[in-house]
Amino acid sequence: MTRASSTAAGPVPLETDARDPYDHYLPIDESDTFLEQVVQEAELPALLAALALANGDLSLLVDEVKPPLPPMDSVIAPQGGMTQEAQQQARSLAATALKLLRDHGSVPAVEPTEDFLAHIMRFLTKDAGDEYLPLLRHELGIPTDYGTPKWTKPTLAPDVEFAVAIIGAGISGMAAAHRLQQAGVDYVVFEKNTEVGGTWWENVYPGCRLDTPNFAYSYSFAQKADWPQQFSTQQEIESYLQSVATSFDLRPNIEFDTEVTSAQFDDDSATWTLVTRTGQGESRTHRVNAVITAVGQLNRPNIPDIPGLATFDGRWFHSAQWDTELDVTGLKVAVVGTGASAYQIVPAIAGKVQHLSVFQRNAPWMLPTPTYLDDIPAGMQWLLRHVPHYGRWYRFWQFWIAAEGRLQFVEADSTWTDENSTSANNAKLRTQLLAHLHSQLADAPELLEKMTPTYPPGAKRLLRDNGVWAATIKQPHVDLVTDGIEEITPTGIRTADGRLHEVDVIIFATGFRASDYLEPIKITGREGKDLHEYWGGDARAYMGITVPSFPNLFMLMGPNTGVVVNGSSLYMAECAAEYTVECLGELLRAGKRTIELHQDALDAFCERVDAGNRRRTWGVAKVHTWYRNRFGRATQVWPFSLLEFYQLTRRPDLAAFDLKGDIE
Ligand code: NAP
Repeated sequence: MTRASSTAAGPVPLETDARDPYDHYLPIDESDTFLEQVVQEAELPALLAALALANGDLSLLVDEVKPPLPPMDSVIAPQGGMTQEAQQQARSLAATALKLLRDHGSVPAVEPTEDFLAHIMRFLTKDAGDEYLPLLRHELGIPTDYGTPKWTKPTLAPDVEFAVAIIGAGISGMAAAHRLQQAGVDYVVFEKNTEVGGTWWENVYPGCRLDTPNFAYSYSFAQKADWPQQFSTQQEIESYLQSVATSFDLRPNIEFDTEVTSAQFDDDSATWTLVTRTGQGESRTHRVNAVITAVGQLNRPNIPDIPGLATFDGRWFHSAQWDTELDVTGLKVAVVGTGASAYQIVPAIAGKVQHLSVFQRNAPWMLPTPTYLDDIPAGMQWLLRHVPHYGRWYRFWQFWIAAEGRLQFVEADSTWTDENSTSANNAKLRTQLLAHLHSQLADAPELLEKMTPTYPPGAKRLLRDNGVWAATIKQPHVDLVTDGIEEITPTGIRTADGRLHEVDVIIFATGFRASDYLEPIKITGREGKDLHEYWGGDARAYMGITVPSFPNLFMLMGPNTGVVVNGSSLYMAECAAEYTVECLGELLRAGKRTIELHQDALDAFCERVDAGNRRRTWGVAKVHTWYRNRFGRATQVWPFSLLEFYQLTRRPDLAAFDLKGDIE
């Protein structure tokens, strides 16, 4: 591995896609002193990796600076657990390497070999098993985009007419659109909103932001280095998604303001007919060969059926349908719910309102994240903009340290008897999270009691916390109400203790009807089978993607593909999109018209996933959670590793499917 200017074979620059605004770096022309300063604010393991690649020099990855990567605890160890001495040495090595890169005109090294990259990956991952390498390469995306389809329609089936409809232009729909575009397949995306982004377009409540780090919560094929924060604001992620749609030329294929109301399979023609309705009420039909649903998991607001709501004289709305005309300044406001949305709304509006009543049914667990709301330090931002692929290595690093994340903490041991935890490891997590809570509420014993969760951590989503929640709840004009809601009157909310909490506005941060998958679209498969009747309220899909009797229908973010304490839903959606595209490739390669799942494949898959979920905290804890449906079955969550989902979604196991009907 040598620098471009000194290879015998001549320079081979790293390839970048000309359309791609995400992999461009500025030249380095700053002084030695400046470079020595910026490394003080660097995330060092990823910086060493990026500089090793940029300079084509593995010698700076010495054992002394190899991050020891302690197992993930409630808090992630800074710099992968490197000692102060190791950090000092790493900074010195990095500063020298930066100067070298500058002195070579900021020209990155030649294209890296697989072995060279594998060496750097092993340095960062503490010698991850070989089985992880393909997944890690996919997430790193150097030197190529490994999610690119392995086929193209023009080479596989140039004369076959084949079109795909994608329902939804949110995160998963855009991933599928990009992959189909790469494969040269005709597709159209129907989006009910007037812009892309799905949940990130719809949720505009104050304080809305990511609770998964954005370097990892972004497409493997569209990496941007200049995120201003680790946990982006809604505006930041929305504008990222809009720029992806533009840069990858997805917009011409998207029909905005167009909702799909039904999709019906026709056995004779082996096609799907979709009925759409525009915002103006215009109805149209469209015939396609395959359908990909990408409607998200959390887009049907749950508004509790509380007696008297219709009599309320003030304004009320759901957190996902924020009333943007409303200024809460000086008003008395109620927030119902203390889940992930409320956790962001309450601190964001508390400073404006006259009085805030927060209605809590179950106290949530808080996950200590001291830097949650912080900007990325200026030095780190400079490095991300100037060191080739530092952002990608940083993403890789973030991905790896959170890949299987806290899975070990959410084991459910069938012999465990303590009701507050589900295993020894889960009890350990509980102790750590309790300590965090106590440290914030030692001066407020009454609040501490109210805010101490009474269920095992991990049964519901852990909420990112940098201390702002407790600080907000402690304010004199904020009440944490734990008496149950009895009714809503014209002037407020009455609780079980008889007290009337007078308010001008009620915000329902009460979550979503997550179990109503694909509602309200009417989906009719082979022989007139209705998908919602077939499911009977208990949604199931093989890999979360396909269902028997529904040929050429694929679901993204489908049943059992959510993650709780490891990875991100965007990763799961990308995997599912790639799998879907490979299924279509198999269909076209075989010259067939439909690909349809066998019932026994679905049954075996569900049996395994259900057993997996019963070994997880959310599968057994006696607490209401949207991860389980009304039958008590965990329909939302993937209980296994990210690696397993990656491996399963690389290509379809054709033994699980029937490929039918010759293309004439
Ligand atoms: P949620 O987590 O389901 O929380 C709903 C809250 O409303 C809970 O506190 C629940 O209490 C309460 N609630 C529901 N019905 C109620 C009733 N009838 N009376 C009183 N309280 C009631 O919903 P969410 O906060 O909208 O979050 C949903 C999911 O969206 C999250 O789990 C997360 O995956 C995602 N999310 C992500 C982000 C992010 O990435 N930044 C932000 C927001 C949301 P119980 O706990 O007692 O059920």
